[in-house]
Amino acid sequence: MDFSGTERRHSVASSIYNYLYRSTSFCSRQSLARELGLSMPTVYQNLSKLMELGLVCESGEQLSTGGRKVSGLSIVPQVRTAVGISVTEHYLRFVASDLLLNELAYRQLSINAGVIFSGSGKLLSESLERFLDDSGIDRERLLGVGIAIPAVMSPDVRHITAAPTLHLRDTSLEGLAGQIPYPTYIENDATCGGYAEWFERSGVGDMAYLSLENGVGGAILFDGRPYLGNNRRSAEFGHMCVEPGGLTCTCGKQGCLESYCSPRRIQNTFGVTPEDFFSTIERHGPGYQEYSALWENMLRHLAIGINNIRMALDCDVVIGGRLREFLPPYLPRLKEYVSGIDPFGSGADYLQLSALRRHAVPLGVALHFVVDFINQI
Ligand SMILES: [Zn+2]
Repeated sequence: MDFSGTERRHSVASSIYNYLYRSTSFCSRQSLARELGLSMPTVYQNLSKLMELGLVCESGEQLSTGGRKVSGLSIVPQVRTAVGISVTEHYLRFVASDLLLNELAYRQLSINAGVIFSGSGKLLSESLERFLDDSGIDRERLLGVGIAIPAVMSPDVRHITAAPTLHLRDTSLEGLAGQIPYPTYIENDATCGGYAEWFERSGVGDMAYLSLENGVGGAILFDGRPYLGNNRRSAEFGHMCVEPGGLTCTCGKQGCLESYCSPRRIQNTFGVTPEDFFSTIERHGPGYQEYSALWENMLRHLAIGINNIRMALDCDVVIGGRLREFLPPYLPRLKEYVSGIDPFGSGADYLQLSALRRHAVPLGVALHFVVDFINQI
């Protein structure tokens, strides 16, 4: 941002903007001065700069305690846009977001992921341009395009080390975003989901995010910063062994959490979707006893995985991903199982379900550009 004034004015404008960005209640010039310890002339001066840049606007009026009308202030979320793309085995998902992570547009395309990674990146860039056109996204306001992939990547993010659900290994990422004419950023999908969840929870506290997709993964966030590990392989919760010598996993090893607790296990065992699986259990439909037995086994192994995460990190554990939406009726039982193997007997209050239900992964990778933009103000 081009603030031509002094460094002091820059940082005051930044703290005013950040205060308004995080605020959920009515804010006026008077409350800003009071909360941030600023003089009224300083508030006026910096607000007019933020308004000139189109970043802040007046929003409604309220009566002050003295009975006078005071104007409210808020940030303008639509002044910039970010796009997130989630790549999975069978789908490309596009989402356009404003600065408050409100979803402006969404599209899902059926693809074969192999084509996306083997080509020159043309298919991805053409699909993106069509999405921008059809959604009426102003390219002048576009901060960048994030791409989330279910893969362990090299520390320099130039190639995929392993992506079992995409059936890829040692694959270059050089061409993937090469034809996209906007700033791009590539990140692991579960890290993005965790980042979006942390943002949705108002950025408070430390958190381990466990994503129950066909690929089970996660993210560790300490004070809002993802902990990536020495090889960008942190939070690979799906490949913790929860049953030595157990079911074979997509990684080739046996007994991984992913082989026990992914939606793929339901599909592979009974050939039904999670929707059909859970509705059959709930209404005691044909085969419900076999379904219930599998679900019980999944919950028991999930409890072991959750307890391992808690023992290692001692922070909140938040469950997201495809299976999250089916978990509410089973959360008390899951907590009971986790408590049963927790030597500290906590009652598992630290275990929560994700707040962000839809499109967490593409929103999370778009968030990278939103946070960058806000930090620059
Ligand atoms: Zn594994």
